[in-house]
Amino acid sequence: MRSPRFAPGQSERELIESAFVEVDDIISYHDIVAAEKMALQKGMNFGVGRKYSVFLMSVRENAPYADAIDPVTGMLTYEGHDVKRGLGIRHPKKLDQPLTTPKGSWTENGKFFRAAKDYASGLREKPELVKVYEKISRGIWSYKGFFELLDAKIVSDGKRNVFKFSLKPVEKKAFNRIVELPHNRLIPTAVKMEVWKRDRGQCVQCGSTKNLHFDHDIPFSLGGSSLTAANVRLLCAKHNLQKSDKILCVAPWLFASLTAVSHVQKHAG
Ligand SMILES: [Zn+2]
Repeated sequence: MRSPRFAPGQSERELIESAFVEVDDIISYHDIVAAEKMALQKGMNFGVGRKYSVFLMSVRENAPYADAIDPVTGMLTYEGHDVKRGLGIRHPKKLDQPLTTPKGSWTENGKFFRAAKDYASGLREKPELVKVYEKISRGIWSYKGFFELLDAKIVSDGKRNVFKFSLKPVEKKAFNRIVELPHNRLIPTAVKMEVWKRDRGQCVQCGSTKNLHFDHDIPFSLGGSSLTAANVRLLCAKHNLQKSDKILCVAPWLFASLTAVSHVQKHAG
């Protein structure tokens, strides 16, 4: 939801930043670059944010890597990345995914692998936070939220060794507080792709193609499901805002002051 509401202790600046991209917003690659204030040239970007890393993921057919989200646990399994194609390397998919570069520095695989293993073994107190964007269609991305990097392993896919990173969905609150995220609130990518196609990339109310968001028809907080396209639709920012106003009826700060007033009146009476 995009309604301008302050969480306790949230500064105006934080509010503006958090209003910029929200989970399940539909954005272009250009929006991602604007949000991260840098061009993300690759899928794995260790430590690029002030306190987090960034993964670009895709579960589409023909996606270059086997990323997957477990529909039961919400855990993300993110595959490591191949050797760069280049001099003498024509078939990266035939080679083991590299931990280090030919010069001996860590690859992105290596940096994430080390962070995951340090956390899993207790060397590191807090897990690496990873912001995830997923590709829905050509040039169309959706912000998937924050995940914690819990562990990693190297597995054989039958032909070569690849990295598998395990990440848990979390919610980042004001003051960098991290809380558990009910995993079934995540809209699976397959559902998003179906909705995107069905609604033809437009707000279902006005046909706008700008500032779109995957919206739960019946809100998740009221028991609406994320797992079926029937309860998910495309709404522009304006119609998303109108809808959230209707559901809340009164703005929370107004509600809080009304409660305070009735409380005072009760005690006065
Ligand atoms: Zn609209």
